[in-house]
This record gives sequence, C-alpha cells and structure tokens, in this order.
Amino acid sequence: MSELNAAQRIAENWNAVRQEVADAARLHGRREDEVTIVGVTKYVTPEIAQLLVDAGCLHLGENRPQMLWQKAESISTPGLRWHLIGHLQRNKIRRTLPFRPWIHSVDSERVVEALSVEATQLGGEPIDVLLEVNISGDATKTGLALNEIRHLLSKPLPDSLRCRGLMAMAGLGTDMDESRRQFANVRQLRESLQQEFGVTLLELSMGMSGDFVEAIAEGATLVRIGSRLFEGVLDPKTE
Ligand SMILES: *Cc1c(COP(=O)(O)O)cnc(C)c1O
Repeated sequence: MSELNAAQRIAENWNAVRQEVADAARLHGRREDEVTIVGVTKYVTPEIAQLLVDAGCLHLGENRPQMLWQKAESISTPGLRWHLIGHLQRNKIRRTLPFRPWIHSVDSERVVEALSVEATQLGGEPIDVLLEVNISGDATKTGLALNEIRHLLSKPLPDSLRCRGLMAMAGLGTDMDESRRQFANVRQLRESLQQEFGVTLLELSMGMSGDFVEAIAEGATLVRIGSRLFEGVLDPKTE
C-alpha cells in the first residue's frame, strides 16, 4: 500500500473510531471529552505510527518499553503523550522515564519501588501511573490481586509518582457480556478503594478494539485501541 493510501485509510479509521467513542459516551450519559483514545502502535513501524499522529491522535501506546523508546525517538510531534501499556521490567525503567509516559501497567510493589527511585533521580513532575488490576481472576495473567492493591494504597505513594487510577484487561476470549461485567467490577473496585483509602482514582484504562464500547459504558476514561486504527493497512494475518 502506498504511503498516501495508508495515510487516507488511517485517517478514516481514526475518524470512525472517534465517532464510535463519542456515540458510546453519549449513549451512557457521558461527555465525549471524558474518554481519551490511546492509539496502540505496537503492530506498526514508526512511519505508520506517525500517520496516526498526523490524523490527530496525540496519545500513543506501546506494550514493550524498547518499542516505546524507538518510536518516541523518531516521532516528535508537539503535545504527543506516550503510554506504556505492557509489563515494565525493572531494568528498562531508567531509559523509559525520560519520555515521561503514563505507565498503565504497574503490576507489583517492586515496580513501584524501582519506579520511585528512578523518578526521584529524574526529577521534574511526578510520573503518572495506573495500577493494573487482575480482573479476570486468571492467575496466569498480569496485574495486581486485590490484596496487593489494598496493600499498595494503604500508605501514600512516593512523591515522585502520581497514581491516576486503575487499568484492566478483560480475560482473553471473554464475550461482550462477560467483558462488561468485568469492567463493571473495576468501576466498583475503584469506588470502594476510593472510600476505603480516601484516594482519588479518576482514570480507568480499559477497553480495546473489540470491547471499548462496553468499557465506555462502565466508565472507561482511557481506551487502548490498536488493530481497529490500522485496519486495511496491516498485513491481514496480524489483523
Ligand atoms: C495490544 C494491546 C491493546 C490494543 O489491542 P487491540 O485489540 O489491537 O485494540 C490494548 N491494551 C494492551 C495492554 C495491549 O497490549
């Protein structure tokens, strides 16, 4: 596919997804601007990711730190914000933080400690983080169990980190009804944690290409959308 066609197709996809996000928000009594679309670029090259930014998407997500570094070094549109949405190994923290991404995937107390040390060294504004909740109950999946989250919130987070909310993924292969129930559980968990610990967990990062409408119905403020945005551009076997 030529660069021009790819640009056109990505702009169409972006506008269609934005419309669907706006419709879902309104349908559930929410404002369109309460939901931020994080365009997940893990399937594509930096050149293709740039086309999504050019179409108007100013929040990009990567699930692997090395890929975030690579793309963040080659895309330098003003106002662009990065999001790390996959597991962050402790030895990758130092190179990741200078890009000041939101880190959606805080999944252990050890990561919190390591992040805090590096963020303090880096200085500047606190690093924005979300606690990843294991909602599917699948022990093999990443994310914090409820007792771990409660333990983390039982004392203030270090000043170098700012906890913005919770992140969750529906279990693999769950149907829409089950995804929606899992997202509703996250919303309820947010409410009970806020009450119990007197914290504010404004952001809910949940919903992907296949289930963002259900996530928005249950209060998602950040939806992480990849394949839908690159339809018609990706090799069919990765779609
Ligand atoms: C890949 C990925 C997404 C995007 O998934 P799509 O189904 O392609 O929209 C969202 N969140 C995480 C954590 C991912 O790894």
